[in-house]
Amino acid sequence: MKNPYENAAHALRNARLAVAVTGAGISVESGIPSFRGEGGIWTKYPIEEFASIDAFLANPKKVWGFWYELGDMLRDCKPNPAHYALAELEKMEMCRAVITQNIDNLHQEAGSVHVIEYHGNSHRMVCMDCGRGHPLDLTKPPSGVPRCVCNGLMKPDVVMFGELIPEYALIESHKLARQCDVMIVVGTSAAVFPAARLPYTAKDDGAFIIEANIEETDFTRSITDAFLEGPAGETLPELVQYAKA
Ligand code: NAD
Repeated sequence: MKNPYENAAHALRNARLAVAVTGAGISVESGIPSFRGEGGIWTKYPIEEFASIDAFLANPKKVWGFWYELGDMLRDCKPNPAHYALAELEKMEMCRAVITQNIDNLHQEAGSVHVIEYHGNSHRMVCMDCGRGHPLDLTKPPSGVPRCVCNGLMKPDVVMFGELIPEYALIESHKLARQCDVMIVVGTSAAVFPAARLPYTAKDDGAFIIEANIEETDFTRSITDAFLEGPAGETLPELVQYAKA
């Protein structure tokens, strides 16, 4: 039996189309903690008060205040070796796209070109009236509630609880999951749907599933073919080395 890195590298070298799906775990080594569990952000800022679309519409000032605090955490973070490893796999034509649930922009900063943002991006805001997008500079947060040139209410361009996944992300990622023959699943707990469905969709259509996580998940126990156990900042660069060999 080969080691999981050899199996994974073999699958990648022979893949017609490989894609990656990433979650909060890939950015932990960049200093962004996962939001769940004990001590997670949702224990201090309950979702229904700070992160749902209903909360935003009821009190945009309060939610923007939370957002600037979150921005403090996100703004100085840099990509880590796991983000760079996926960007390198894209250059090696071994990873067509990264479908990310993260909102931190770190894949783009690491050089990944084809990034599908499932939950939006914290570096943008969007007008709720005219739909215009604007950059959001987390180092210089606007005071109070930002307004568009049309005077519409601006909202962080992220998917809040109670909102739909952007149609493009939903359709494109589903298409890639159906078409790919290798999927690399990194740092995601398999708990947040509909993103968590993508690896199952890929597996149903015969894809080889590579999973990188510090611990087993529901994927590991059901569909994973090669489990790279450990921090993604260590396991993904190792995978790249194997894929080059
Ligand atoms: P999750 O918090 O439910 O699960 C994180 C997973 O990452 C766990 O399985 C954990 O074992 C694993 N993990 C932790 N450290 C790791 C490491 N160093 N290397 C590899 N794996 C590691 O995350 P989720 O499944 O992405 O769902 C959370 C939701 O919250 C996402 O939809 C995302 O939008 C949002 N979120 C985003 C960010 C971000 O943008 N960086 C951060 C936190 C949460």
